Amino acid sequence: LLTKDDLKLKLIVMLLGDSAVGKTCVLVRFKDGAFLGGNFIATVGIDFRVRNDTSDLCEPSCYSLCIWDTAGQERFRSVTHAYYRDAQALLLLYDITNKPSFDNIRAWLTEIFDYAQKDVVIMLLGNKSDMAAERVVKMEEGEKLAKEYGVPFMETSAKTGVNVELAFLAIAK
Ligand code: GDP
Ligand code: MG
Repeated sequence: LLTKDDLKLKLIVMLLGDSAVGKTCVLVRFKDGAFLGGNFIATVGIDFRVRNDTSDLCEPSCYSLCIWDTAGQERFRSVTHAYYRDAQALLLLYDITNKPSFDNIRAWLTEIFDYAQKDVVIMLLGNKSDMAAERVVKMEEGEKLAKEYGVPFMETSAKTGVNVELAFLAIAK
């Protein structure tokens, strides 16, 4: 039997970015409204979660978001490449307290242009906005890079929840 959820439009969103930028935490924040603090458990290969109840994102609730969480490490790249073509939207993250994670965004975009669908929707997120004292990437730098590639940009915090729902809402829309 089909359930109401089976009839919904399924949107596949993929989370990308260097290891430890906060992809898994952003997803857990969005899915469960909680923060995975403390120990850092690296994602192995690929993991996914579904949020069916998106009624707060779209009224009436008309879609489910299937979110693929990837591992940022080089050794898993060949695994995650296979999933790019199924993704309709990509959230590309860096950590505002980690300059290399920001500098690597261009390389991520090159990879995206090689492997993803041509009409994929991309959004750039500068995560850990709660860590103002340790910030090394200015908000304007994120905005400038996003503008250069013509993609929307936001700063998020999986810890406080700032802009996490908004980012998923924007990309789903
Ligand atoms: P991933 O490898 O990109 O999936 O990164 P994780 O989600 O596993 O997070 C890596 C580390 O950063 C963990 O120790 C998290 O607790 C921490 N973290 C993730 N997001 C945030 C955030 O928004 N603020 C702060 N302060 N820490 C975060
Ligand atoms: Mg992870």
